Amino acid sequence: MTAMIGQQQPRLLLQRLVREGRVPHALMLLGPTGSGSLALGIWLSRYLQCSQNQVMDGPCEACNACRKSGQMIHPDIHYSYPTIGTGAVSTDFIKQWRTAVLSNPYIDLNEWLQSIGAENKQGNINRDECNAIIKKLSLRAFEGKYKVLVMWMPELLGKEGNRLLKLIEEPPEQTQFIFVAEGTEEILPTILSRCQLVKVDRLSDVEVSEGLQAWRQVGAERARQLSFLADGDFRQALFLADNADNDDSAFMLDWLRRCWRGYGPELMEWTDQFAKMGRENQKQFIQYCLHFLRELNVLAATGREDLRLPENERATARNMVKVLTVDKIAQLAEMLSENEYYIERNANPKILFLDSSIRLHQIMKL
Ligand SMILES: [Zn+2]
Repeated sequence: MTAMIGQQQPRLLLQRLVREGRVPHALMLLGPTGSGSLALGIWLSRYLQCSQNQVMDGPCEACNACRKSGQMIHPDIHYSYPTIGTGAVSTDFIKQWRTAVLSNPYIDLNEWLQSIGAENKQGNINRDECNAIIKKLSLRAFEGKYKVLVMWMPELLGKEGNRLLKLIEEPPEQTQFIFVAEGTEEILPTILSRCQLVKVDRLSDVEVSEGLQAWRQVGAERARQLSFLADGDFRQALFLADNADNDDSAFMLDWLRRCWRGYGPELMEWTDQFAKMGRENQKQFIQYCLHFLRELNVLAATGREDLRLPENERATARNMVKVLTVDKIAQLAEMLSENEYYIERNANPKILFLDSSIRLHQIMKL
């Protein structure tokens, strides 16, 4: 299992609780997508079971328990997560779950559901799963100190969560609940009120950047740029690093220069290239431009120079604010967001971006 990144603060808190044997029996880790709340939940489940947890700051990775938990096959760590299909329970999908989480514990709900073939179906944690949990946790621990349940996305329990109330309120001995959620709004208040909440913040740019260097051997400068784009979401950062054959930065700067000059054949040539990129790359390119515009807006509105942009883009940004007001930047951002919407719906990218290039030229020159 790959080491998790960042989250120093909640980790220190949990370390202390484990060391002192004071972990509340129902914890709810709350963090946005890509913050690593699931990674943290799994880390805690492993740390609890580790035979060296009184002397180590995390799973020792060497003891019998750690070797099993590292492969997600520890008999006293149970996982519960959204599934699809009537009567389906988590263990029906345990192989896919292990594969998905071992390769990326920063996975999000949509990615998970797609990996089990959900297509347009909504996932949930259903009645049968709740009954299965009650059954599992009523057994004695096989070999661990605790019976741990890691439940990811309790938001999708809905009213079925009521079935677990009694278990959470009067848990069998040595039972540990670790809920991992993104927000509190969709969770039953009756469950929420029985849990100790632990907040997991967005990762900092530095943490994302260091994580990328460690996980994907990305160079420091590239990692820094990707961290700006990912905005604290490590899942997004990994996606960008894994799908970064195209250099969006150079392509965008080239586009902006051509739009500034407004010479027709040059614009046509650029839109031809753009059309060949394919839809996913086109959408990523638009996201890239929107990030640039957000930073440009900061510069135009406040004059602040500490932009989250690479140096060559900062230079371009400084030139562009000479001709673009906050109003004009907003117009551009709106145009690009609309383009993303049209591209999603199979608009012709050539026509769309030729038109946008001309509009961009007019907005800059007016
Ligand atoms: Zn261990």
